[in-house]
Amino acid sequence: MPDLYAVFGNPIAHSKSPFIHAAFAAQTGADLVYQARLAPVDDFAGALRAFVAEGGRGANVTVPFKEEAFRLCDELTPRAARAGAVNTLSFADGRVRGDNTDGAGLVADIEGNLGVVLAGKRVLLLGAGGAARGVIEPLLVAGVGELAVANRSADKALVLAAAFADLAPVGGGGFGDLVGRRFDVVINATSASLAGDRLPLPEGLFAAGALAYDMMYGKGETPFLAQAREAGAARLADGLGMLVGQAAEAFAVWRGVRPAGAPVLQALRAQLAA
Ligand code: NDP
Repeated sequence: MPDLYAVFGNPIAHSKSPFIHAAFAAQTGADLVYQARLAPVDDFAGALRAFVAEGGRGANVTVPFKEEAFRLCDELTPRAARAGAVNTLSFADGRVRGDNTDGAGLVADIEGNLGVVLAGKRVLLLGAGGAARGVIEPLLVAGVGELAVANRSADKALVLAAAFADLAPVGGGGFGDLVGRRFDVVINATSASLAGDRLPLPEGLFAAGALAYDMMYGKGETPFLAQAREAGAARLADGLGMLVGQAAEAFAVWRGVRPAGAPVLQALRAQLAA
């Protein structure tokens, strides 16, 4: 019997995770099945219990269940504990172990695929929701020279920045506080692009050669990347590489072998362009 894995979310029909993990399994010769499972919004725990009863070995968790998954775990990795959210679950010996691989996926994409060394860079993180929280520690561990978090609701950015203050000084505030500041890497972790909204960013935010990174992805340029291009960002990247990166990290957590993300990313890009 192949080992059983799944991604849980609501909605889940358009998830690319089954494609990505099937490609990783083929690449590494792993005998596994990876499904997309729709969990009821009010019974994620029940869906998970049924999956474990069927012999499920591990699961990914996506919107809107990452915080609930965090609360259901018997054990957490330090990075998941800090993120307050879990996207990777492992089931063994009747226990549920939670991890968060989103931040590692982002750093792997920026450094591995895009070739941008984060150490010493001035980094701006836009947004203060679950996605932003999940990437702060990995960015600090990567050695960024400066990290600022800016959010529409400034108070949330301040709270988030304070939560990591024991690791390194992290700035927090509203978009208005960014006037006169310049950054080498600007990461959009808001969901503004989903609604097609532009962010009220001041002029001159992008330093020479700066990278603009949108965690969102889709067909064509995202609204944030269009805005960043017009504002002078030298390099633009969407979040498809992060998606593949977090999946590769989850696969490594489960299987003890790290698949190569680049060929899978290339195949996904071709699918999106078709
Ligand atoms: P949350 O709902 O937790 O947070 C949303 C954030 O976006 C908040 O900071 C909110 O600000 C801000 N926001 C929403 N609408 C606007 C707007 N119109 N203008 C300005 N700010 C806005 O979402 P997540 O953190 O879970 O996800 C954020 C994004 O990251 C999503 O697009 C998601 O798809 C993407 N993502 C991508 C991943 C990948 O692998 N590529 C992985 C995880 C997430 P406020 O606090 O003021 O409401």
